[in-house]
Amino acid sequence: RPALPRPDATRVLVVANQKGGVGKTTSTVNVAAALAQLGQRVLVIDLDPQGNASTALSVEHRRGVPSTYDALVEGVPLDEVMAVCPDIDNLFVVPATIDLAGAEIELVSVVARENRLHRAIQAHPRVGTADEVGEERFDFVFIDCPPSLGLLTLNALVAGAEMMIPIQAEYYALEGLGQLLETVEMVKAHLNPRLQVSTILVTMYDARTRLAAGVADEVREHFGERVVKTTIPRSVRVSEAPSYGQTVMTYDPGSPGALSYLEAAREIAIKGVPA
Ligand code: ADP
Ligand code: MG
Repeated sequence: RPALPRPDATRVLVVANQKGGVGKTTSTVNVAAALAQLGQRVLVIDLDPQGNASTALSVEHRRGVPSTYDALVEGVPLDEVMAVCPDIDNLFVVPATIDLAGAEIELVSVVARENRLHRAIQAHPRVGTADEVGEERFDFVFIDCPPSLGLLTLNALVAGAEMMIPIQAEYYALEGLGQLLETVEMVKAHLNPRLQVSTILVTMYDARTRLAAGVADEVREHFGERVVKTTIPRSVRVSEAPSYGQTVMTYDPGSPGALSYLEAAREIAIKGVPA
């Protein structure tokens, strides 16, 4: 299998959808793990106080561990709060502790409050172009957002150039998407003109139901080329992996869920940054 080419500069993808339970965290950790397995250098920033991405990547996130909170609120350099995923080479994690729940309010009175994450990421010595940073650069930074459109998610939308929206192939899949896209437009107009919705990933797809196929069609009609061709099937293996502190990419690499995430990751890498 030919190795994936590395992007010329670090790609920062925000994984957001204010709906809970649509597969943000699952998609973040599995696409990130798949890309790392494909030879890319990947950083995951856990921006959800629940710390589910940290759990799945087997990185400690009890209170007191250096975390996203310290970077966002205290201005600690990202490099100092970064951990290494023990199971997968080339995969790094900034964990989230429960302290982050308070950041939503603490940030309100902080200077340039919606720029904190952007600054932290851009100040990282391994974020940038091949010319600036060299071989050690991160190819991808994924930001796993909480299920809300508050200051944490706003920080992510200002920090990223690309947005990945997981959509659950279920009833009401598109509900709330209008509000999300309005927020994106607001951010583009006022805070981050580079932001674009580059990637839509249909998750928890059940091929046996007509409903799932209908939802996928509707999503493609709306978002066209931005929809990843590979859908992620609903699979117990995917959902049980985190309880073993793993992604499905190591928990059951041959399972349909793992193979789909691998294929989706490859698509995302090959398609590159949209013009
Ligand atoms: P979010 O981060 O958007 O809240 P999660 O990624 O935590 O969503 O997923 C919500 C729940 O659905 C979790 O229990 C997760 O294990 C489960 N889940 C996610 N993707 C799949 C899948 N492809 N198949 C089965 N269960 C899944
Ligand atoms: Mg989540």
